[in-house]
Amino acid sequence: MPLNRREMLGGLGTLALGGWVGVSAQDARAQGGETAAAGKDYALPPLPYAPDGLEPHIDGQTMTLHHDKHHQAYVDGLNKALAALEAARKSGADADLAKVPGLTQEVAFHGSGHVLHTIFWNNMKPGGSEPTGSIASQASRDFGGIPGLQAQFSAAAKAVRGSGWGVLAWEPLGKQLIVLAAHQHQNETMFGCTPLLVLDVWEHAYYLKYQNKRADYVKAFWNVVNWEDVAQRLDAAKRFGA
Ligand code: MN
Repeated sequence: MPLNRREMLGGLGTLALGGWVGVSAQDARAQGGETAAAGKDYALPPLPYAPDGLEPHIDGQTMTLHHDKHHQAYVDGLNKALAALEAARKSGADADLAKVPGLTQEVAFHGSGHVLHTIFWNNMKPGGSEPTGSIASQASRDFGGIPGLQAQFSAAAKAVRGSGWGVLAWEPLGKQLIVLAAHQHQNETMFGCTPLLVLDVWEHAYYLKYQNKRADYVKAFWNVVNWEDVAQRLDAAKRFGA
């Protein structure tokens, strides 16, 4: 299907941050996106609930380490890479410009890590919720219902080799939900897609409680999903891609 001009422009707009889009205005504020545009650093957003709020499904110690140490490291890595790129631009020396390819990879890795973790925290809430509204009807259309969506998502997340994410995304050209499995944070994704529901399957996300039993962690995740947040992201993504 040929792209019309708006679709092409929309596609180009998604090249930032490793192809992931769909960070809500709220997330953008939380992650310092507005200040970043003014030349300042990205910042770690606070968890939207207490670290032990997702127990017994995800333990508080894991959440504290995951948010305070791992997510912080992605924020720092993104800021550091962007600062080094700015320095290389200003220098213009061949030796500095030779750093651009490596730094560009750093931006994709840390930037995608920052975006996905920011969405991930908000995709969960203590006690979880029932899927209703736009996400329920869209899942019906694209997966035959929420159980079909969950089965495909879980299979994709469980099968990620090494570190990565299960991702439910809105695909604007086909106007449908699709399931992806990102490796690391930025690989094997599809440009233009807006992540709506993401599940971190890096070992740091579950090993303290679940050890090697990733499948048990993936199963437990469904007990804490904030479907209202997923529905709001879907609604926003549809407006963005209209
Ligand atoms: Mn993580």
